[in-house]
Amino acid sequence: MSEQVTITIDGRELSARRGEKLLWAALRNEIYIPHLCAWPEIEPPEASCRLCYVEIEGRERPVTSCTEPVIEGMVVHTRSPRVDRLVASAFELIMSDHHLNCAKCPQHKRCELQKIARERRLRLRPSRLTALPRRGERDDSLKTIYFDSGRCVLCGRCIWACRELARVGAIGFSRRGYKQAVTTFGDLPLAETACTECGECVEICPVGAFSYKINAGGERESL
Ligand code: SF4
Ligand code: SF4
Repeated sequence: MSEQVTITIDGRELSARRGEKLLWAALRNEIYIPHLCAWPEIEPPEASCRLCYVEIEGRERPVTSCTEPVIEGMVVHTRSPRVDRLVASAFELIMSDHHLNCAKCPQHKRCELQKIARERRLRLRPSRLTALPRRGERDDSLKTIYFDSGRCVLCGRCIWACRELARVGAIGFSRRGYKQAVTTFGDLPLAETACTECGECVEICPVGAFSYKINAGGERESL
């Protein structure tokens, strides 16, 4: 059995596995910390979304909880003016190029962006930055799954799932900076790749970018 340590998060004393990442210890104990790119099996964590900041007593600056191993006696605060500022800025940046159309999105009401906005009282529509939604192309080439790149938040979880869970590796990041996108190798339609339509990308996507096609009866197409 793994060694347990005692930590304190937001005044609550909790038991956690020594060395496990703080983010998962908090979530398991129903303490919410925003996150998009993190997934328990993705090691090392990407720490690219910059949403999971917390303060740890004794540390000069906020740290990302997805990369921080727990140690005995650690005292953590998930909210502080510095943390809230960092999270609000990262969220605003993510939403500034997001094609926001919740009412028509298959992930409406289950979306991680909506959850972050709700939990942290943030606006989905950027208020400080000019919104420049990426009207990314929609890849409709597969029978059961589609990909709408305008909704993609570039968390990278689908790339990991396609490679590590499906063992296919049909997708990856291409281009840099503002133009960065999830694409297939050579930008081919998904139907022209080794994609098996296993659905791992849909299951792991925190937003409505990879989605199942819905049939006329409003039900998910069977795979
Ligand atoms: S991905 Fe989330 S925030 Fe974006 S349109 Fe869909 S439901 Fe709305
Ligand atoms: S398609 Fe979904 S899982 Fe993949 S990078 Fe975009 S938001 Fe993340």
